[in-house]
Amino acid sequence: MSNIFDDARSRLHEVFENVAVTDDVRERLMHPKLALAVSVPVRMDDGRLRVFQGYRVQYDDTRGPTKGGIRFHPDVSLDEVTSLSFWMTIKCAVAGLPYGGAKGGVAVNPKELSRLELERLSRAYIRAIADVIGPERDIPAPDVYTNATIMGWMAEEYSQIRRRQVPAVITGKPVHLNGSLGREAATGRGALFVLQQWAQRQELVPTETTVAVQGFGNAGYHFARLAQEAGYRIVAISDSKGAIHSEEGIDVEQTMHHKRTHRELRAMLYCDASVCDEAQQDTLSNNELLELPVDVLVLAAMENQITAENAGRIRATQILEIANGPTNAEADSLLENRGVPVLPDVLANAGGVIVSYFEWVQNRAGFYWEEAEVNARLQTIAEREAKAIFELADERQVSLRTAAYIQALQRIAGAIRERGTQEYFTEHDVAKAADH
Ligand code: GLU
Repeated sequence: MSNIFDDARSRLHEVFENVAVTDDVRERLMHPKLALAVSVPVRMDDGRLRVFQGYRVQYDDTRGPTKGGIRFHPDVSLDEVTSLSFWMTIKCAVAGLPYGGAKGGVAVNPKELSRLELERLSRAYIRAIADVIGPERDIPAPDVYTNATIMGWMAEEYSQIRRRQVPAVITGKPVHLNGSLGREAATGRGALFVLQQWAQRQELVPTETTVAVQGFGNAGYHFARLAQEAGYRIVAISDSKGAIHSEEGIDVEQTMHHKRTHRELRAMLYCDASVCDEAQQDTLSNNELLELPVDVLVLAAMENQITAENAGRIRATQILEIANGPTNAEADSLLENRGVPVLPDVLANAGGVIVSYFEWVQNRAGFYWEEAEVNARLQTIAEREAKAIFELADERQVSLRTAAYIQALQRIAGAIRERGTQEYFTEHDVAKAADH
């Protein structure tokens, strides 16, 4: 699929058939509100000046200020950022947060930059987009290859520009720089709450459920760690370099520890004190991991991982989407026809933005919560919205993704209708016609 945004938008047409929305709403949701392309000049350590291409897209702000992460990745393009901002709009509405959707990004390979270059890039990007962001306008956060440290630099740069402290302009900051406890693990934790609700409905027993996780970044790692704690058997994990597979089950913490110290994935078994045994492992490619016969395939890497090309070879009995847009629209219908349920991104990975919302609330109130409170509030929202979507899917006999979109659209359409002018004119015309 060459155009991700066309693919992303194509889902709306199916949803429009299932939900009564006015032409105003249809038309509004087809176009981003603001798309900004910026040059981001950075002085490199060797004295050269390099200019990177950056973007910020605010898709829709009907329900509140726009919200969404910033990614640093070589493949970032306006098409990708626009799609991601569209998904954020749907996601914030699915979670019932008082936000619209946005996304930003810089086309760069951050692994090739020194730490100081990365800091200069982060600050330069904020200087380039400062006029369009703010706590009441658009609130960035971390995404692929950005993290709390980067959010800290960005929030500080913004405060310098405004000449006052503005912590609520960015979420996902370090805990000691006005961040929220629980934010770092929130995407993985939220995904597990959604999976647990699903497991309950499907009568899946965690200890008898095998899981393969594509992607071992922040979201994939925390999900795998927490899922293992909850009893699930993690049998495969991959990162950008490849995958490991061990039917005995992989110790997630130890595998992460090994990755951090040796920069490679190696399956570790449960450890006794400091002695770890290496598991019997097969090394697989990322594509082979996708085709393993597991109970739950977790997609926590990038978009477009399951397409028409490989959908027929997927042997997992259900899919949990932690990345944004990992299954494209064609693959979606192929999986649906084969009866493979997909727990969709806009529900399954909303934990990150839900706790971002808590961080923004805490920043604005100047009052900080205990981690247990953050996690409990996350659980309430994730379970409530997951349950509502599962019930809606049953009731309307639609896929889980369509049900999530229906739920989001009802909320967005409600807001557009209540502030919109279409009905006013329609009613006005009716009144005029009655007068004559
Ligand atoms: N980047 C994350 C996402 O795609 C988090 C966004 C946020 O916290 O605003 O949902």
